[in-house]
Amino acid sequence: MLKNSLLLLALFLLCFGNSNAQSNATYIIAGTFYDSQNNTLLKDQVLHIEDSEIKALLKRQDIPNNAHIIDLSSYTVLPGLIDAHTHVLFSQDANEDFAESSINTLTLVSEALRTLRGAKRAKSYLDVGFTSIKDLGNSGQFLDVALRDAIDEGSIIGPRVYASGPILSSVGGQIYGVSHKHQHLVGLEYRVITSVDDARNSVREHINQNVDLIKICADNIPNNTRLNSAEITAIVETAHQYGLKVTAHSISNQSAWEAIQAGVDGIEHGFFLEDSTLTAMATKNVFLVPTENSRNYMNTYSDLAGYTSEERDFIDGYLNRSKDRLKRAIEKGVTIVAGSDNYTDIKTTRGASSKDLFRAYFEAGMAPLDILQSATFVSAQAMNQDHVIGVLKTGAKADIIAVKGDLINDFVSSINTIVFVMKDGQIHLNTVE
Ligand SMILES: [Zn+2]
Ligand SMILES: [Zn+2]
Repeated sequence: MLKNSLLLLALFLLCFGNSNAQSNATYIIAGTFYDSQNNTLLKDQVLHIEDSEIKALLKRQDIPNNAHIIDLSSYTVLPGLIDAHTHVLFSQDANEDFAESSINTLTLVSEALRTLRGAKRAKSYLDVGFTSIKDLGNSGQFLDVALRDAIDEGSIIGPRVYASGPILSSVGGQIYGVSHKHQHLVGLEYRVITSVDDARNSVREHINQNVDLIKICADNIPNNTRLNSAEITAIVETAHQYGLKVTAHSISNQSAWEAIQAGVDGIEHGFFLEDSTLTAMATKNVFLVPTENSRNYMNTYSDLAGYTSEERDFIDGYLNRSKDRLKRAIEKGVTIVAGSDNYTDIKTTRGASSKDLFRAYFEAGMAPLDILQSATFVSAQAMNQDHVIGVLKTGAKADIIAVKGDLINDFVSSINTIVFVMKDGQIHLNTVE
């Protein structure tokens, strides 16, 4: 009797276990498949998804009978894209001044309203295929962390957010022109570092608020002070002790050089990097996030800002300089991580605006697959997340997109024609079925 009962129980568990696994399983047929780790396109792959994860990579003949199938055989399937430089809690109009916008936001907009607006901007990334964003400050007092948690718990829909909390900066932050009497306002947006000990403590404060990484201003440009080497070293040492990466806003070559010597993991912008600095970055494996925009974007921006034709003369120089810097960085072997830094309202969604980075890198001479890798696997690697996102392999999150068209020969158009977005195994967009 006991033996029979056990047998029945075993049979029941076997059947129940099987049917349960079947009901959660989805098989995505990829006509073309971007292998981001090896930076190559493969044909006819199948992704087996269960719940929020990729269970296996299969061939078509391995799909079980009566399986739930999503047929993307006419499209290219890629890991969800990553924008490694966003500011979803901040926006300004093209004709507005950055410092004025910052002070207005801090004084005239409640944190609740600011966060709700940020939630809308965050979702717009998912709409266009960015399933993860690295949000790098200008987000009040850890509003980015709150946004991340709200998305993670399912209270709102949005991309995976990796949040830095307030940027660690020297006095004044980036908000130029604030009178001495009102400097406390800057402290609502930046974590102003006052000493080496304070630098260490600021990192601990951020860790206590559960940030995912540390962002510093190596220089405060467009403002005029900067952290010193000892302060940056203290920040990096403390962050690394806790396993967090440090990335540095750095416009001038000098500040980038000092930040690299102090051990930062990444340089944001780096508009004026000299060859010796790029060589140091390659040697020390410091990544670069080039945040320039395309000519298209600059023209739209200039229209909205009301620039005269003379005032647009800078665009050619700007584009040539960014093209030259990107080319030199690639030649020297610097790791390129894709990031937009788009925070100006150009009368489209924030996500759509941020996709300009693909056009900008392409027009600056970067190869399509290299751009894709810098927006997927390489970006994830720079955050020690390449087992989770930016890659389609067993155990990774089911953050999957599909595009229409020819990514190699018609890159910009194809990467902008998103037909399918899945995050965490949940379909967010599907214009195929
Ligand atoms: Zn910056
Ligand atoms: Zn930025």
